[in-house]
Amino acid sequence: MKGITVLGSTGSIGVSTLDVIARHPDKYRVEALTANSDVDGLLEQCQRFRPKVAVMADEESGRHLAKALTEKGIPTEVLCGLRGLETAAAMPDADYVMAAIVGAAGLLPALAAVRAGKRVLLANKEALVVAGRLFMQEAEAHGAEILPIDSEHNAVFQCLPPDGCRDLEMRGVRRILLTASGGPFRTTPLAALKSVTPDQACAHPNWEMGRKISVDSATMMNKGLEVIEAHWLFHAEPEKIQVVLHPQSVIHSMVEYIDGSVLAQLGNPDMRTPIAHALAWPDRIESGVGSLDLFQVAQLDFEAPDLQRFPCLRLAFEAIKAGGTAPAILNAANEVAVAAFLAERLRFTDISVVVDETLQRLPTGKVDSLDGLLTIDAETRGVAEQVALSRV
Ligand code: NAD
Ligand code: MG
Repeated sequence: MKGITVLGSTGSIGVSTLDVIARHPDKYRVEALTANSDVDGLLEQCQRFRPKVAVMADEESGRHLAKALTEKGIPTEVLCGLRGLETAAAMPDADYVMAAIVGAAGLLPALAAVRAGKRVLLANKEALVVAGRLFMQEAEAHGAEILPIDSEHNAVFQCLPPDGCRDLEMRGVRRILLTASGGPFRTTPLAALKSVTPDQACAHPNWEMGRKISVDSATMMNKGLEVIEAHWLFHAEPEKIQVVLHPQSVIHSMVEYIDGSVLAQLGNPDMRTPIAHALAWPDRIESGVGSLDLFQVAQLDFEAPDLQRFPCLRLAFEAIKAGGTAPAILNAANEVAVAAFLAERLRFTDISVVVDETLQRLPTGKVDSLDGLLTIDAETRGVAEQVALSRV
């Protein structure tokens, strides 16, 4: 029986994780659940899964949740804020921690799980984009196991030999092929992109996800963040990572070996597959995902990505090549720009402009300390807000 903490349990990944866990009450037990501000959502999950601890981001939501739990006679203890998240991530009885908070806000809780030596099921790619080197060093130092949940990285992990993440060259890997759907605007006329709405951007053709990652998929910043994520997870130089547009989202990614073999992982686009894989690894469990109907799929297409259409992808490649603080700046500027777009304060096509200008305004030196990275993150948000305002 494994105890599990789900950070970000009310989100898209969190809900899918609880769906898989609920299918295996003999194998998994929920230790802690956390949410930002969705008191009703977390209350319902506490009723169903009876965790020891529930965490809300702010005190007021925490008080509401605690009161509602008491009224229902549920003994779950309520904690609040970053301290609460870190406590939930490091609970002694939590063997596994699902890191599924969105954005850089997920970094410190995920790091707490790493430092407690947990098996970390990592969905929060932004943690690696902001602090990849430090995150992987801490995992090594504390014996934490990082299992990728992002479907592409989970696919790559499945296509590598068991110890393959350590030294790609020694294991005969030539390239990592990260597939990308191209999002909802892959074929939209370029001139129409400046007036697309948040709802159009969030209407992903193949995946149902939270709104931030959905916008990232529409700009392809998501794939850019994933290139950086793959760089840290698999110790792969950016030149060894090729992005392949594959509109059907059936191949979740591939690994090419020096003998010419290309291994791919396929399946229906449903995050419960990578979640179940990482929960059970190295075993396999049912995830609730149906068989892939190849006759229905019928055809698999591939295209090279168009960097004109998707400038965010180019910016991400440039940031990882520049190194230092550039990826952290890229990420924070993108979070600000996407939030402004979702609030209808910024045009879709200005997301990349805000990221680009913010990167140009800030120095991208070498900073490896956590405090240094958090300072850069905060400073970037201020600059990006200014740039976004100037675009109105
Ligand atoms: P979501 O917006 O649906 O859920 C986010 C969760 O984090 C919610 O539970 C929310 O309450 C919590 N949260 C948000 N801000 C917080 C804060 N400041 N403090 C504490 N908690 C906070 O997002 P999602 O789509 O589930 O994505 C979660 C992470 O997984 C992201 O990093 C995303 O890139 C990654 N991911 C998601 C998918 C997917 O299919 N949804 C696929 C691959 C990777
Ligand atoms: Mg992905």
